[in-house]
Amino acid sequence: MAGIVFAAALFGHLTRPLGFLSTFWPANALLMGVMVRNPGWAGPLGWAGAAAGYLAADFAMGGGIGITLWLTAGNLTNAFVGHLLFQRVAGMDRQLERPQSLLFLLLIAFAAAASAAIVGSGCLVVYFGQPPMQAFEFFLTSEFSSNLVVLPMVLTAPPLAEMAKQLATHAAPSTWRPKAVLPGATLLASILVATAFGGMSAIAIPVPAILWCALSYGVFPTALLTFGLGLWQSTVLLAALTPGTAEYAAALTSHRFGVALFSLGPIMVAAINAARSRLLRELDLAANQDVLTRTLSRRAFLARSEAALAQNLAESRPLALLMLDVDRFKLINDEHGHAIGDEVLVTLSGRISELLRRTDLFGRIGGEEFAILVPGLTQPAVLALAERLREGCARLRVPVEGQEPLALTVSIGLVWGTPKPGCSLQQWLKQADDALYRAKRAGRDRVVEEALQAA
Ligand code: GH3
Ligand code: MG
Ligand code: MG
Repeated sequence: MAGIVFAAALFGHLTRPLGFLSTFWPANALLMGVMVRNPGWAGPLGWAGAAAGYLAADFAMGGGIGITLWLTAGNLTNAFVGHLLFQRVAGMDRQLERPQSLLFLLLIAFAAAASAAIVGSGCLVVYFGQPPMQAFEFFLTSEFSSNLVVLPMVLTAPPLAEMAKQLATHAAPSTWRPKAVLPGATLLASILVATAFGGMSAIAIPVPAILWCALSYGVFPTALLTFGLGLWQSTVLLAALTPGTAEYAAALTSHRFGVALFSLGPIMVAAINAARSRLLRELDLAANQDVLTRTLSRRAFLARSEAALAQNLAESRPLALLMLDVDRFKLINDEHGHAIGDEVLVTLSGRISELLRRTDLFGRIGGEEFAILVPGLTQPAVLALAERLREGCARLRVPVEGQEPLALTVSIGLVWGTPKPGCSLQQWLKQADDALYRAKRAGRDRVVEEALQAA
């Protein structure tokens, strides 16, 4: 904690043009974010470490003892109050996972900044002779804006290991796809255009591009880009003024307030979009996946098989449909209970999935009945696959508490052929079902094949 705060505070000191308070002071918001993300650090030792970091950075820069202690109290107040308030909101909101999280962020950022200003702004009055109202306003906007621009990055940053992995996979230009690169490139271009033309609308020119980025990249990258955009906006806005003048100080206060609030828009768009994508993914799972076995649901299997049938018909590629049913499954349920029966189904479908290719479709059609659509294999290859599946299932042992592990067998009906016009999926299913029925009648634990009949 001491190290993080020391580094961030030193950075703040080095960007100090005003002589009495830094332009951009990320340490307090960073400290708050780190404490919110790692509640285990937020004990007396962690806060003491943070205080040590502030003091060390101030002394390293040659600050007087009175100023240093007073400002450190203000800095710690911002982080501590923010941390306390964040504990009162839901975990989802601490990670900015839904739109209203941004409103909580806004309120907490303001409350923490106001508390810090109450504690710390007196220092500016006593040591720098500022009028009290101006000192309070300056302290408040400084804390508030750094909270707003720094917290979204800290709260949504993926774990370091994950970030390194992402960077490693996306760093090579050969993997760059236009869809991933264009929004960022457009943002850069609009910043260049805005810089070249200047004028009052300059800070608004990148708005479409940053919104596009928000829709494309997710919350954390958007927070990073918005932060970068904010730095640029401040630079452009303040370019005409001379640092150190009263005019500059007033403009700085006003502009960083505006830039910080501006950043809420893109980040909220990214949060809404991420929440929406998450919902769509869940919906897709609920609609297309069997809850117990994680194979395709009946509905999804039939829909995707229809599409595969049409495609293989167009390409005149052979196709096979396998119908697989657990033998004497009712007995397993009766002897060991429904829960063990369920476990058998999970283990079995896991094993079958391992033996299939990514292009094969595997769905749960009924209680203990599964269907598999295999495109593009020759007849002997499909027969061999069916035998591998049957043997693979026969070799499974499902552990049962206090008893011998449970063994089971499956019967498989198989139909193979090149799709013909007018031969519907229903016909394929019926023929595979007939073959399965014959396998059951012939004694179970076997594969029976039927050739595809003309429509
Ligand atoms: P056969 O070899 O002829 O297929 O015999 P069987 O006992 O497997 O056939 P039957 O169709 O008579 O029984 C299937 C049983 O599967 C009946 C039902 O209780 C059970 N079952 C269906 N869905 C589930 C499920 O989701 N979980 C469990 N545990 N059992 C299920
Ligand atoms: Mg059965
Ligand atoms: Mg059955």
